[in-house]
Amino acid sequence: MTIKPVHVMVVTPHPDDAEFGVAGSVVRWISEGKDVIYVVCTNGDKGTNDADMKPEALARIREQEQLAAAKLLGVREVIFLRYPDQALEDTPEFRKKIVRLIRMYKPETMVTADPYRRYIWHRDHRITGQVTLDAIFPYARDLLSYPDLLNQGLHPHKVKEILLWASDDPDYRSDITDTFDIKVAALRCHKSQVGDSPSPDLEQRLRERAKKMAEGEDYELAEAFHRVEIWW
Ligand SMILES: [Zn+2]
Repeated sequence: MTIKPVHVMVVTPHPDDAEFGVAGSVVRWISEGKDVIYVVCTNGDKGTNDADMKPEALARIREQEQLAAAKLLGVREVIFLRYPDQALEDTPEFRKKIVRLIRMYKPETMVTADPYRRYIWHRDHRITGQVTLDAIFPYARDLLSYPDLLNQGLHPHKVKEILLWASDDPDYRSDITDTFDIKVAALRCHKSQVGDSPSPDLEQRLRERAKKMAEGEDYELAEAFHRVEIWW
């Protein structure tokens, strides 16, 4: 099985988090010729205030919404792990799934939620970030971590860069001035989350946040991350 390596793998806790966190940068990377894939950890089946909505139906809707957003952005592939929403745990099984994908797709850059955001932080976000960091190092890197993966031809892989969104400690900004509109359009694909009618509110809120993130730069709008560069 030969898979064309990707430049960027985005590991997102729920459908829609990647759009909030990194979609503007994703569009820019793709326009620069880079390949981006998404790994969506949970099925998002708790994300509603509608008492009549059944979790299974919501999970199906959210998958379609995620696919529509990814298509709009130009994401090459979306992989759904389909863990239940609010039930993600730091298990050997989950970790191994991420390691397997890292070794299959060989990303240079991994993007996920910062697990070290303090106090109020969705447990699925914390666990997604932590398990992804652990998967990158040492498990994806080390030869003897998973003899069975090695036997399947999935050799160790060294990720070069990690970008963590929603960080308390952002130290890296990405210019999304030209891609902001597509980010907003991609977020609007998540109708079950952001509502049906085109709300100027959402755009305004996002623009304010992106402006703040770009403060001090010579461009207008940014996404901000904590960046970890790995010198192996
Ligand atoms: Zn989320």
